[in-house]
Amino acid sequence: MLTTHPFYLHFQKVYGDRWPTLFAALQSSEQQVARVNNLGVQGDSAAAWKNFETKEQLPGCFWIPVGEGSHPERRADEMLDTYVMDPASVMVARALEAQSGDRMLDMCAAPGGKSLILIEAIAEDGEVFCNDLSPERRERLKKVIQQYVPRDVRNRVWVTGKDGVQFGLKEPNSFDRVLLDAPCSGERHILENTKAQDEWSPRRTEHLATRQYSLLSAALLAVKPGGRIVYSTCSISPVENDDVIRKLLKKKKGAVKLLPAQLGVGGEATEFGVAYMPDRCGFGPLYFSVIEKVEE
Ligand code: SAM
Repeated sequence: MLTTHPFYLHFQKVYGDRWPTLFAALQSSEQQVARVNNLGVQGDSAAAWKNFETKEQLPGCFWIPVGEGSHPERRADEMLDTYVMDPASVMVARALEAQSGDRMLDMCAAPGGKSLILIEAIAEDGEVFCNDLSPERRERLKKVIQQYVPRDVRNRVWVTGKDGVQFGLKEPNSFDRVLLDAPCSGERHILENTKAQDEWSPRRTEHLATRQYSLLSAALLAVKPGGRIVYSTCSISPVENDDVIRKLLKKKKGAVKLLPAQLGVGGEATEFGVAYMPDRCGFGPLYFSVIEKVEE
């Protein structure tokens, strides 16, 4: 991409001196982890991963050396025993603090890496609704659930295909926790794809932010009073991140409370949440914010 491209110039304004390094990092391979599937593993799987680094702040994850590609996944009890994903995605899903017995909604769930983390929490009791609007991506989601979740737990996991905004009016005050991993610009993807670069404009980001706000408002209606929402994107655009939360806090004043978010490994505090940026931590980008619906 030329440094005169509107995308380049836009983020140069946002990030200033940081931008050239961030721009380069967005085009480099990102750090990934192999997260152990606690639902499928029989016995001690750690032996298979003993040469991989682990970190105390992110238990259950083995850090794959950058550029080494995905380690082949080993089968145990017919379930795949690790899911390779961005470490920031693990931290985002864990920020929901899913508990046994919860009724949860993963509003934009496919392909399902974060859903698996929510599903593990309800292994004994509770249910998870994994929703995604895209039929193709829903097929991938169903396959992931089949490969990683044993049948007895799968009986309490539902895959649905609604527009997420419908949950607000159709299922108000219904879920203990909602994860909204919203559709976003995904600048890493834009930089890999010349067609996406041609189509990019600041207006597109603003348009997406409007959709994200609608989905977040629906999540707020759908969660029970006292329940928790995690809002996340894989965008570096503040318009799609803190600005969406700022709008919610302003428009729904008194109905929502911002909760403190753990930085975890490599996180940077933003005004309303946490960002993982590849120039600083080697993975991401990913942003999240944690919100509670205030009891009436
Ligand atoms: N949470 C997923 C994971 O960790 O594997 C990734 C989700 S991806 C960032 C966003 C998803 O939102 C896409 O799969 C897309 O099909 C879905 N989506 C887009 N618009 C939607 C809508 N209005 N309602 C529900 N899902 C939607």
